[in-house]
Amino acid sequence: MTEAAALPGQPRGGVLSGPATARAVNVLAPNASAMTLDGTNTWIVAEPDSDLAVVIDPGPLDDGHLKNVIAVAEKAGRRIALTLLTHGHPDHAEGAGRFAELTGTKVRALDPALRLGDEGLAAGDVVTTGGLELRVVPTPGHTADSLSFHLPADQAVLTGDTVLGRGTTVVAHPDGRLGDYLDTLRRLRSLTVDDGVHTVLPGHGPVLEDAQGAVEFYLAHRAHRLAQVETAVEDGHTTSAAVVAHVYADVDRSLWPAAELSVLAQLDYLREHGLI
Ligand SMILES: [Zn+2]
Repeated sequence: MTEAAALPGQPRGGVLSGPATARAVNVLAPNASAMTLDGTNTWIVAEPDSDLAVVIDPGPLDDGHLKNVIAVAEKAGRRIALTLLTHGHPDHAEGAGRFAELTGTKVRALDPALRLGDEGLAAGDVVTTGGLELRVVPTPGHTADSLSFHLPADQAVLTGDTVLGRGTTVVAHPDGRLGDYLDTLRRLRSLTVDDGVHTVLPGHGPVLEDAQGAVEFYLAHRAHRLAQVETAVEDGHTTSAAVVAHVYADVDRSLWPAAELSVLAQLDYLREHGLI
C-alpha cells in the first residue's frame, strides 16, 4: 500500500519481474493500481542447487497468478515447500489459503489468524528450507504484523510493504504506528550498515540496489512529512482531512485516503510526544 507513487530524489529501482538475485525470483501479480504500483511481487526464493523453494507473499486470490508461481518454480526444477507472509493485507495474503491448497504447503506468518499449520514466525526465527537461510526481522509500522526476511547469502532483504521499490509506504493507522515504523527503519538501516545488506526485494515496485540509500531516504522523508504535519496543525489545520489537503497537495488525489491513514498515525505520534 503506497502513500506516494514516486518522489524526487528517491533511489531508482532495477529489476521488476524475473530473477533479481542468485536466490530470488519475482513473479508479478496482475493487480496493478495506484495503491499497489505495478502489482504485488510474489517472491520465489531457493538455494541455487536445491530442488526446494520458499514462496513469500502468494498475493491476491487469483488462480492464474498462483498457478503461474508454481509453474515458474517447476520450470526451474523446484517444488514449493513453504509459504511465508510479510503481513496480512489482502494484496499479499488473500491467495495464501488457495496457494497452500495447490502446493500442499504450510503458511507461516506473525499473525496466528493467517497461519496454516502449527508454526508461526517470530523475531530471531531462521527459516532453513533446502539449505536456504532466511532470518525473520520484525518490522512493524506499516502494520503491526509486518515482517521482513533477511537473505544473508544474497546480501538482500525482502521487505513486503515496509520499504517499496518506488514511492513511500503507508503507516496504516490505527494498526500501524509511526514510532514503530521509525524504529523499524533504523533496524533496517543497521542491517545495511552492520550486516552488509545492499539489495531491497520489495513487496511492490522494482528491486533497489542501494538499500542504505533507500532507508535513509525513507527516514528523511518521514522526518520531513512529520515536520510538515506539525506546522500544518500549528497553522490551524486541525482535522486529518485538512492536514492531508495541505501537506499532501503534491500527491495524486487517488492516494489521499491512504495518506490520511499516515496523517492519523503522525498526529498520534505528535500528541504522544507532546509536540502538538
Ligand atoms: Zn500492506
